[in-house]
Amino acid sequence: MATSVLPTLMGSVIDGPTGYTGVEATPEWAQEVRRLARERNATILAHNYQLPEIQDVADHVGDSLALSRIAAEAEEDTIVFCGVHFMAETAKILSPTKTVLIPDGRAGCSLADSITADQLREWKAEHPDAMVVSYVNTTAEVKALTDICCTSSNAVDVVASIDPDREVLFLPDQFLGAHVKRETGRANMHIWAGECHVHAGINGDELTEQARTHPDAELFVHPECGCATSALYLAGEGSFPADRVHILSTGGMIDAAKQAKSTQVLVATEIGMLHQLRKAAPGIDFQAVNDRASCPYMKMITPAALLRCLVEGADEVHVDPAMAAAGRASVQRMIEIGNPGGGE
Ligand code: SF4
Repeated sequence: MATSVLPTLMGSVIDGPTGYTGVEATPEWAQEVRRLARERNATILAHNYQLPEIQDVADHVGDSLALSRIAAEAEEDTIVFCGVHFMAETAKILSPTKTVLIPDGRAGCSLADSITADQLREWKAEHPDAMVVSYVNTTAEVKALTDICCTSSNAVDVVASIDPDREVLFLPDQFLGAHVKRETGRANMHIWAGECHVHAGINGDELTEQARTHPDAELFVHPECGCATSALYLAGEGSFPADRVHILSTGGMIDAAKQAKSTQVLVATEIGMLHQLRKAAPGIDFQAVNDRASCPYMKMITPAALLRCLVEGADEVHVDPAMAAAGRASVQRMIEIGNPGGGE
């Protein structure tokens, strides 16, 4: 039965301007996806911001760094990375001998796109002695020009580990940069003015309103949100109790959910995160601070895109070996410092 539905399912795949559509996430689709993955000796990894049906059919769900580590240790020789392009590139950097596929190679990231390799070269030329610290949401080309990568969990430790007399160029996220600058009190740190349009859309006004209407809730904030500063400010002035505000990576949110004491948690990050949080702690009412915070790139990994990927072995992710070696060094330095957690 499983093989007989494939022509019908594949015949429905439509390549539209916003990605592949036309296939519903039915039980037959899920069965077909699992069968094709076995046939290809592939493991399917899904980021926390993926559509619930993609998360549910995957072998592993997590944040970008955790998934890259799983990819590197996987026995299968093909990795199907359901996430955005820079994440699949990071998996390829850490697993150069494996075949890495992404269901839709057009799934980019506005944060990673906010700095190009040429812009970074120019910035470095203006500060020739500076250390470059890049968040994992960067392209392989930018990682290759980076001294140390960081995640949202260890960004403070990474910057604190650098000689205090040395300038630091921090990129690409201005909100994470502001958080790190405040925590380290470092004056010689320059911050690139990049942002993720999804996270920047979660603003302080909405958060203030949510804090007022949910006085007993805990608050989970991802530091790339435009509201991270507001959350800390609200905590500081006592309008949102400081012990109820948690600045966390997406992986850290899952751990914190399992230990949360409140019956309600407000979540300030991409809304796909709610699916795993609700699974991790079904007794807690998780609510989005902004329920419009949905990443259109993450949602390009549709049931149709995943099916096409497994049938056609596309889109394959390639990283130039010399660039991968340089990028790998900066990622490995990140893993050695503090607790890298999982980043986004
Ligand atoms: S949510 Fe923002 S940072 Fe994350 S993948 Fe989407 S555009 Fe990039």
